[in-house]
Amino acid sequence: MSYDLVVKGGTVVTAADTFVADVAVSKGKVAAVGQVAAGDAKVVDARGQIVIPGGIDVHTHFDMPFMGATTADDFTTGSTAAVFGGTTSVIDFAIQKKGEALRQAFDTWREKAEGKSAVDYAFHMIVTDLPEKQVKEMDKMVDEGVSSFKLFMAYPGIFMSDDATIFRALSRTKENGGMICMHAENGGVIDVLVQKALAEGKIEPKYHALTRPMSAEAEATRRAIALAEMAGVPIYFVHLSAGDAMDEVRRARERGQPVFAETCPQYLYLSYDDYERPGFEGAKFVMSPPLRPKGNEERLWKGLVRNDLQVVSTDHCSFCMKVKGGKAGKELGKKDFSKIPNGAPGVETRMLLLWDAVSKGKITQNRFVEITSTTPAKLFGLYPRKGHLSPGADADIVMIDPRKKHTFELKNLHANVDYNPYEGKTVDGEITNVFVRGQHMVEGSKLLGRTSHGHFLRRPPRSFN
Ligand SMILES: [Zn+2]
Repeated sequence: MSYDLVVKGGTVVTAADTFVADVAVSKGKVAAVGQVAAGDAKVVDARGQIVIPGGIDVHTHFDMPFMGATTADDFTTGSTAAVFGGTTSVIDFAIQKKGEALRQAFDTWREKAEGKSAVDYAFHMIVTDLPEKQVKEMDKMVDEGVSSFKLFMAYPGIFMSDDATIFRALSRTKENGGMICMHAENGGVIDVLVQKALAEGKIEPKYHALTRPMSAEAEATRRAIALAEMAGVPIYFVHLSAGDAMDEVRRARERGQPVFAETCPQYLYLSYDDYERPGFEGAKFVMSPPLRPKGNEERLWKGLVRNDLQVVSTDHCSFCMKVKGGKAGKELGKKDFSKIPNGAPGVETRMLLLWDAVSKGKITQNRFVEITSTTPAKLFGLYPRKGHLSPGADADIVMIDPRKKHTFELKNLHANVDYNPYEGKTVDGEITNVFVRGQHMVEGSKLLGRTSHGHFLRRPPRSFN
């Protein structure tokens, strides 16, 4: 057997096992894991390093118009940040405009990504409008490989769906094998709280958090779980932030209901205190749901260990603080917190932040792989092509040197944004090499592959009930 590439002598970590082995690659696929003769293959020495399946971030927003601004990152810069951060596949969101056919939204987003992504990519479809006559369009999307749909219980007038629409969409996934991803916050209540705060002259960034209480998330989570139960289908919660919302997920799972949830590094590492930073700096952390009070993060860490939470994604949705290249930024909300574009960068920092948690003993290395790669692949139809290192899988391989340390600094990050939420933070571990389908994309600080290397990933309907 001759190979194109052998990653030699590293400690291979999967969701299940840890062992020293070579990983041999042929034609972009893993050909063998074990002791192999490299022959004339390119050899990358991985001794002393951790070798894992590439990270899968199932929640990114590249090239997205939102709240009067457009995200700072398009597919080129966003996917470059992803690959340097050890993420080799992303699932981004195509957005249906009200009145638009789902197909049209899919075409728009494929065009945004085609030939412009360093990593492989797939789409969820954000549904904003679903009258009865349009419900069958969901089936066509599933046929096209877009087998998950995101709905919002927040952002009235922009994205929010009423319970009837949510129930209609959930019920249809019983027929077509799609999965509903839910942004669970009670948008109606939040709107009232926001208007009240503004009327009282409360305009600073911290009021973004103070008008979006934990109970607004917990209530919506509980309601969506009930709707999914009535429809008899699984449901997946995006960016779960509140311990109280997690308890709803845990209780549903204990009853045997197929309920899944992701959280994000910002909810594990940052807190409400960041909104109290001086001046307008708190705007950097304005995202929905908001950062929660200190102490909440410990509940989420426990939930990750106990599998109450199954995935860590990023919700990468970057907006610059200042106007840049004609693109409006967070400053839109300088005099009104409700006008600050919601979102923050995260795709490049996720893997090392979580590896640091391994190093600090919060999670095991196998759990790290499970929540950043294997379970995301399983839940969204990418497994076993992605999310695992075994013969036949795509050779998406990341090497981490656990003996090194890494400091996040704006100048060595790759997102097209003028700040980073973790600026100056030092973590254990450094990403040394990244391969996407066998292509050596990253070596240290060098990008070796093209930013057009990524392929569209057509995903099958879900295989579980
Ligand atoms: Zn999002």
